[in-house]
Amino acid sequence: MGRYTGPACRLCRREGMKLFLKGDRCRMSKCAVDAGRPAPGVHGARPSKKTEYGVQLREKQRLRRFYGLQEGQFKLFFQRALRKRGVTGEMLLQLLELRLDNLVFRLGFAPSRRTARQLVLHGHVTVNGRRANVPSMVLRAGDRVETKARAKSQALVKKTLDAQSRELSSWLAVDKDGLKGEVLRVPTREEIAPFVNEQLIVELYSK
Ligand code: SF4
Repeated sequence: MGRYTGPACRLCRREGMKLFLKGDRCRMSKCAVDAGRPAPGVHGARPSKKTEYGVQLREKQRLRRFYGLQEGQFKLFFQRALRKRGVTGEMLLQLLELRLDNLVFRLGFAPSRRTARQLVLHGHVTVNGRRANVPSMVLRAGDRVETKARAKSQALVKKTLDAQSRELSSWLAVDKDGLKGEVLRVPTREEIAPFVNEQLIVELYSK
């Protein structure tokens, strides 16, 4: 299945919450959710009956769309979380949060996860001094994300970092002059996507 290329705001409207898919625009009054636009479709404005399955499915879709993953890739991350020692839901959130594209976004190198993914795919960043163009790469504590020593890459990242108003997560460190960042430690549950009930996702995939 191909990547979703439709309007990002449509996904937020479907989930009934802000997923912050469009960078700075999401903090402006133009946001479709803030403007109170209903879910897409002819019956979007009608309240729907929620089954147990429906609630679990929505929770999974929210998290999947928040990180910009396709179903297959999301499931692979879930299976990876299952193999890890610890609470599966928490492991899933940690794995998603430590993806390279998410880290590039969190460090402020890109205004949204979508743009961060493009930066990675186009080879503008390195990890521990090595070429890294796989957005799904999972980093560990101590790993360094740097901007490639190429004028175009440095200009792109500098422009975004200079305009950055988001607060940096406490488990990350960024060197704005050096255009680089570091994963100080693995984030705790509370520091990741607090809106989601990951237990519902575990229940959905356990059926
Ligand atoms: Fe979602 Fe609002 Fe951002 Fe559109 S502007 S992607 S509705 S948070």
